[in-house]
Amino acid sequence: TDQPTTDSHVAVLAFPFGTHAAPLLSVTRRLASASPSTLFSFFNTSQSNSSLFPSDLPSNIHVHDVADGVPEGYVFSGRPQEAIELFLVAAPESFREAIASAENDAGKKVTCMLADAFFWFASDMAAEMKATWVAFWTAGPNSLSVHLYTDLIRQSVRVNDGCMEETLGFISGMEKIRVKDTPEGVVFGNLDSVFSDTLHKMGLALPRADAVFINSFEELDNTLTNNLKSEFKSYLNIGPLALLSSTSQADALVDDPHGCLAWIKKQRTASVAYISFGTVMTPPPGELVAIAEGLESSKVPFVWSLKEKNMAQLPKGFLERTREQGIVVPWAPQVELLKHEATGVFVTHCGWNSVLESVSGGVPMICRPFFGDQRLNGRAVEAVWGIGMTIINGVFTRDGFGECLDRVLVQDDGKKMKSNAEKLREQAHEAVSEKGSSVENFKGLLEAVVTTLN
Ligand code: UDP
Repeated sequence: TDQPTTDSHVAVLAFPFGTHAAPLLSVTRRLASASPSTLFSFFNTSQSNSSLFPSDLPSNIHVHDVADGVPEGYVFSGRPQEAIELFLVAAPESFREAIASAENDAGKKVTCMLADAFFWFASDMAAEMKATWVAFWTAGPNSLSVHLYTDLIRQSVRVNDGCMEETLGFISGMEKIRVKDTPEGVVFGNLDSVFSDTLHKMGLALPRADAVFINSFEELDNTLTNNLKSEFKSYLNIGPLALLSSTSQADALVDDPHGCLAWIKKQRTASVAYISFGTVMTPPPGELVAIAEGLESSKVPFVWSLKEKNMAQLPKGFLERTREQGIVVPWAPQVELLKHEATGVFVTHCGWNSVLESVSGGVPMICRPFFGDQRLNGRAVEAVWGIGMTIINGVFTRDGFGECLDRVLVQDDGKKMKSNAEKLREQAHEAVSEKGSSVENFKGLLEAVVTTLN
């Protein structure tokens, strides 16, 4: 019979910017189905919550809104990261209040803090509450290492003109990563920004977490994996989430209002370029024009996910002239497109979710990283896994982009990238199959989350 097996109450703390909250909710769904007697209280800003469509949630997930930290009547100055900073500064208090009220409503004290890793303060909060602390790093293992070893990197790298090409070979698994690939705020850029300080504190706190988990699979980076296992109490690779979501009906409902899947079905194997730069970034107008011109002159079939507000920046007549060649849509079913055999190349900003979804589909990449962890991910794609290339000269030009498309879709080095990507795809599938590493690690995560301290 269905006797409750635990009395656990898990507070799930989401970071409401970029693609952080969606994968956390996806993991929470899986945990909640695996442990129906555990209550999961999901805390996120109302704005981010409303973008997650949490309408058909299991009954043991309760969604709560937390304050966004923007003072009443506040006028945004337009500074980069302004909204993120306001949120982060207020976050400890915002979450504390919301958690107290959820504990009251449920009549259950929180037994586990399941938090986006950015929230280093969850360490102290969990200790005060006599709860466990389980942290979710929503990006990849290279960036996790960079933040874990920030002090070491700052001591080891002497910032001067020549240092940017030096590698981080003093960190196990980062032999091919260069200083210039690191996110701004580690050794260059503003080291004292709220965001940089948050990540630094996080790196110092994470070894105290009861578990740190990540949307990746161990075999993708064996050396990094083993090193991180030696640093954390428990380090659990539970991905790729993109290969697991079909186990949950709710996630399997594909959001394809613009008919991308019907379109791609008619295309030849490995012929299509899928283009997207994630939810935050859009290339500057000049580069958008270069992408359009590169596509037109190369005649490569394409699906381009481009925010509605940027469509006006496309060259005049582009949409009409390319009506037969491709489609431009404001939102695409990316995971499904990357799994489709007609997709031959992914033109990406190298956000972690995008990179791992491409790996899951065995699709080589053309990388145009912009900020944060994107350069690290792009470097790994090109130099560590050999499954793609960085855009020639670092920015889109018509000819440079055309040459990249040709290299990946036609030339021999593209064939090599494709076969490397196929191998990783197979390993990713193994990781999430029965007895696979990610399936075993998920059991460990479930145990860490439902086990109470007393
Ligand atoms: N995505 C999508 N359709 C689009 C654009 C993006 O489904 O048209 C999804 C994509 O599958 C990925 C996420 O949005 O899961 C982007 O995450 P990523 O970490 O790559 O970038 P971010 O949005 O954080 O910059």
